[in-house]
Amino acid sequence: MPTFEYAPAPESRSIVSLRESYGLFINGEFSPSVDGRAFKTISPATEEVLAEVTEAGPADVDRAVTAARKAYEQTWSVMPGRERAKYLFRIARIVQERARELAVLESLDNGKPIRESRDVDIPLVAAHFFYHAGWADKLEYAGYGPAPRPLGVAGQVIPWNFPLLMLAWKIAPALACGNTVVLKPAETTPLTALAFAEICQQAGLPPGVVNIVTGAGETGRALVEHPGIDKVAFTGSTEVGKQIARACAPTRKKVTLELGGKAANIVFEDAPVDQAVEGIVNGIFFNQGHVCCAGSRLLVQESVYSEVLASLRRRLATLRLGDPLDKNTDVGAINSAAQLAKIRELSDVGEAEGAQRWSPPCELPVKGFWFPPTIFTGVSQAHRIAREEIFGPVLSVLTFRTPAEALEKANNTPYGLSAGVWTEKGSLILWMASRLRAGVVWANTFNKFDPTSPFGGYKESGYGREGGRHGLEAYLDV
Ligand code: NAD
Repeated sequence: MPTFEYAPAPESRSIVSLRESYGLFINGEFSPSVDGRAFKTISPATEEVLAEVTEAGPADVDRAVTAARKAYEQTWSVMPGRERAKYLFRIARIVQERARELAVLESLDNGKPIRESRDVDIPLVAAHFFYHAGWADKLEYAGYGPAPRPLGVAGQVIPWNFPLLMLAWKIAPALACGNTVVLKPAETTPLTALAFAEICQQAGLPPGVVNIVTGAGETGRALVEHPGIDKVAFTGSTEVGKQIARACAPTRKKVTLELGGKAANIVFEDAPVDQAVEGIVNGIFFNQGHVCCAGSRLLVQESVYSEVLASLRRRLATLRLGDPLDKNTDVGAINSAAQLAKIRELSDVGEAEGAQRWSPPCELPVKGFWFPPTIFTGVSQAHRIAREEIFGPVLSVLTFRTPAEALEKANNTPYGLSAGVWTEKGSLILWMASRLRAGVVWANTFNKFDPTSPFGGYKESGYGREGGRHGLEAYLDV
């Protein structure tokens, strides 16, 4: 096979103007923290400090919730839906206008390839605001009664893997339904949420409708446990999700949780191998595998195992790892030193438990946090790498002989967020899809998202749906 050499094609970062430090976005303006604490956010690709960000304490969270309550009662919940829609449309258009800047900022702070932030994350952010703008004046037709009411103030906590997209999944439906929000981005990726705060100002959004408080787990805890919150929406680890569910159980707060996953991507012997291999690569190496619905367990039918593996190895050898801002890059940086340590630890456990580890020849940059695309073969269902979420570019390969065995192995997990099925047989797709215990089942594709389509899990992957008509329910008093 010919090898191609690619000249560097870096996206210019000059389109982004970073401030040295950022305050908290409360009641329509940036303000310092009451107790004045701050932390730094770095580029995971270079470890360069990008900016200093304020750490919100309980008093700041309280200020934000108070601002959101006032905006809810005096402005947002009494505004006609068609007026709320105008703001959402305006936000969507500003996101589109500033798309290149937001994509560069996301790749800088998160480490994901610019190709992904430019072609997937930011277009989907705009799509979510457009889609929900369309609902704002049509809620009585959503199937939740003739005059559905908002819930009040939503406290929203999001992870670092799709920072601005997760913000859009949370804020767009909340605002469309007439709620106001206090959102906490992840501590390693606060910058696009702060850029979004500027977008709210640019759109003339009434003060207090959206508030952004930055900080780590303690700030998140202060927010979800605040008595002035009516609705908690969380995306993150199952461990923290369980803590939040416990804390909210004795309250009247409505809770939705989007947690972890360990999805099976199932390849049957009649599947077109080249397409399936593209789907496997997209399923686990997209966003360095930092995807809750990643196809991290590959189940291959034994009769095509050698062919699929050979083809997969060839394809992996062509992936380009490196500078997230280079338009040729396929695999970017791991988001943090802590996440890299977790991926290394679980990969070492995989080897120690007897699975065979393989990575293509791949030079890793000296600075920053990097992990090569990795495949484990000879994996059994008892291995930790087949059961636990690695949240990195690591694929565990298992085999099966019959559809019934594939189904049993796929469902043998505490999670249930997504699954993929690759076969030419429509009847087999339907048979599998109706039996897989997963919130999303993709057939002959993987990792496809659309704001019209509900997303969410079964079992330890959480509860509640985001997106589509179903997602509105989480923000309405039904
Ligand atoms: P995490 O749970 O540690 O953090 C997620 C967010 O919660 C962060 O903003 C963090 O600051 C905050 N947080 C931490 N402790 C908290 C507490 N006690 N109370 C309130 N907030 C708290 O998870 P992570 O490591 O940042 O993210 C990776 C995890 O997120 C993975 O397990 C992944 O599967 C999951 N995830 C799920 C989805 C989904 O839609 N289901 C999407 C993305 C990520």
